[in-house]
Amino acid sequence: MNNVDFLSFSISEIYKKLNKKLITSKELVEMCFKRIKKYNNILGAFLVLDEKNALNAAIASDKRRAKGASIGLLDGIPMGLKDMILADNILTTAASKILDGFISPYDATVVKKLKNHGAIILGKLNQDEFAMGSSNERSAYFIARNPFNLKKTPGGSSGGAAASLAADMCFGALGTDTGGSIRQPASFCGIVGIKPTYGRVSRFGIIAYASSLDQVGSLSRDVESSALILEVISGYDKRDSTSAKKNVPSYSSMLKDSIVGLRVGIPVEYFSYNIDSDVRVSVQNSINILKKQGAILKEVSLPHLKYAVATYCIISSAEASSNLSRYDGIRFGQRYNNKNDLNLVYTKTRGNFFGMEVKRRIILGTYVLSAGFYEDYYLRAQKIRSKFFMDFSNVFQDVDILITPTTPTSAFDLGEKTNNPLEMYLSDVFTISANLAGLPALSLNTGFSKENMPIGTQIIGKLFDEGLILNVAYHIEKELSLNIRSKIVI
Ligand code: GLN
Repeated sequence: MNNVDFLSFSISEIYKKLNKKLITSKELVEMCFKRIKKYNNILGAFLVLDEKNALNAAIASDKRRAKGASIGLLDGIPMGLKDMILADNILTTAASKILDGFISPYDATVVKKLKNHGAIILGKLNQDEFAMGSSNERSAYFIARNPFNLKKTPGGSSGGAAASLAADMCFGALGTDTGGSIRQPASFCGIVGIKPTYGRVSRFGIIAYASSLDQVGSLSRDVESSALILEVISGYDKRDSTSAKKNVPSYSSMLKDSIVGLRVGIPVEYFSYNIDSDVRVSVQNSINILKKQGAILKEVSLPHLKYAVATYCIISSAEASSNLSRYDGIRFGQRYNNKNDLNLVYTKTRGNFFGMEVKRRIILGTYVLSAGFYEDYYLRAQKIRSKFFMDFSNVFQDVDILITPTTPTSAFDLGEKTNNPLEMYLSDVFTISANLAGLPALSLNTGFSKENMPIGTQIIGKLFDEGLILNVAYHIEKELSLNIRSKIVI
């Protein structure tokens, strides 16, 4: 068996191989780094590698296993972290120049949880600067590419995470999702990505973008791996006042529950939108699978979809302008030095080290919060946001889950939308509503376009119903059993 074969296994498959001593975690980690070094200059998936610590952690994991004392669900499994997530003693920049040189002094709660379950952290993954973007082209360091076609974007903002998984560089990754940043790249790279319910996963140690929307979630090549990772990272954390005091079910053991009688909602607005015919066919195919397996289909209406992007832009920019005010050159990262003029320190630090998209959003956010405009923009957006809560709570009286496309098209070309921010924002039209309403949502690969690019189907669930959406995704995945590997071009 060659290296790539080992690297393409799911978490539970490779876990069994580790237990059977067919491979050690150290060997696995070495294989990952070998592959990363071979392809990262093309794919741009990883920003930082933490080789020495990863190898030491793998050796420790192997010792535990040899003694029969494995500590957890991810013992010895190589994983990556989006650069929004703090990991002790590793350079953490949120792909921004303003945090260049910032070494995190501690682990985010989610990273601590991964480590407590024995996961091996390989390094930090590329993304759009401060998670603002849909194509990874806004990384201040380098772009990332789609392993299915190097001329295309892997999506964003968690583009590095999605590309690394599709290219078999690691077995799972953590990302953040504020308006689709886990699901859209998952869809573009043919993998699974889940954004949990707001409050399901602690955000302590996560760099904040828009705090009423941000959630941490997992990306992986298959549904079961996503369930395992989510199980590990979920739960209440006294360090995050927005985390929920709710028990965490064993998501991975809920995957085989029958879906006979499941009520599946098909929101008409999503399907009357201008979506590619390939996408339409693929999502319809998933719906047919559920029907065949005994689900009951029902058309439903989410009438405020047309306001999703505008509402999101106002709320996320407002929150970003406040969250990013801490980067003033005094406490973190880079500083423009001037002994005589403190104002110059602030303005030049922010002016020189923030990228263009980040500045655009800070300016927009400051504007919508300013006196005279607050009522017209921010307050109005908050009112419309409450319509999203109502829309969803209405439809969830009648159905258990919703099925939609994740994105209107498959991955677009690099450079195609960089000069048109509105077009770029519109690629998130189907993912944003779940963030506005705080609902869990997942994307999985359900087919390919005529150009051989992956297509994603989105499943949205009720609050804290991650177990059900993972189970539904699992049924679709099993029935389709698509082979993505044959279409990867590296
Ligand atoms: N693509 C969206 C944006 O540009 C969503 C980003 C995210 O979820 N972090 O803001």
